[in-house]
Amino acid sequence: MQTAILIIDDSQTVRHQIREILEKTALFKGFYEADNAIDGFKLALNKSVDIILCDLEMPGMDGFKFLSMVNTRAELRDVPVIMVTSREDQETKVRGLEQGASDYVTKPFDPAELVARVKVQLKIKQLQDSLKDSNQALLELSNTDPLTRLCNRRCLMDFLDKEFKRSERSKAPLSLVMVDIDFFKRINDSYGHQEGDTVLVEMAKLLKSHVRDYDMAARFGGEEFALVLPETDITKAVQVAERLREEASELSFQGIMEKLSITISLGVSTYPRGQIRNVDDLIRHADYALYSAKESGRNRVEIMDE
Ligand code: GH3
Ligand code: MG
Ligand code: MG
Ligand code: MG
Repeated sequence: MQTAILIIDDSQTVRHQIREILEKTALFKGFYEADNAIDGFKLALNKSVDIILCDLEMPGMDGFKFLSMVNTRAELRDVPVIMVTSREDQETKVRGLEQGASDYVTKPFDPAELVARVKVQLKIKQLQDSLKDSNQALLELSNTDPLTRLCNRRCLMDFLDKEFKRSERSKAPLSLVMVDIDFFKRINDSYGHQEGDTVLVEMAKLLKSHVRDYDMAARFGGEEFALVLPETDITKAVQVAERLREEASELSFQGIMEKLSITISLGVSTYPRGQIRNVDDLIRHADYALYSAKESGRNRVEIMDE
């Protein structure tokens, strides 16, 4: 994305002076100008700007008002605002800094100083941006199972908590399907751990192909998976689970696992239903249903009696 600056000043002469000085540097590709705070604020919201230079004394809405408006918008919080002020008023500068300005420059401009101050703020902004990117990447990493790229258990729990609260408010049903591969240990034993991993990856793909936009598929741990289905009652959830069970049995593999076919067992639970009062209950019921599916011969879907 190109680096852009927004210059807000009621004096066209001042705007052009600033622009001329900054155009001689290679710091910015984009220049936006406004001759009043309101238009400046609109530009700041609609364009992607990295730095704002704002005059403090303007007719109508002044620079202080502009700063307080910027403070109300989360998307502008990290955009540095450099005040443009006249040399004498020390008090004004302090007030501006207290209201959230990052720095100030005084008129008439010393070009070298203007450039230096802009550079510092730009550097800070860029460091903040890359920090935000790394944080986002870390967050994604901490929520993702590295083998299957599915949401991991932590991320599943967060999602379930959120969806459970939503379901409590909206009274829309929320279903959980727990999936466990049958006799998975034998696959590892017969073909090796790495081939076992391939089966887990294929199973994850199958799950992903079943999720709607607002569903979530997760790896619960080992060879156990979970499917969270908001706004889905027990009947529909069992249908989804049944389809999944059939499709798992039709999965085919390559190489030494060419002859392998797998089956899965599934346990379904739904809120509100029976004694389920919270997320732990929902998981426990699905787990128990899964256990009964295993007990009654595997390759089947079970729900817990109400
Ligand atoms: P059941 O039908 O009762 O579910 O039998 P099972 O063999 O599937 O279940 P069990 O819990 O006895 O074994 C699960 C195995 O899954 C044991 C463990 O070594 C294996 N496993 C867990 N995580 C991974 C993994 O990331 N990769 C591979 N390849 N195997 C894993
Ligand atoms: Mg002015
Ligand atoms: Mg298993
Ligand atoms: Mg298991």
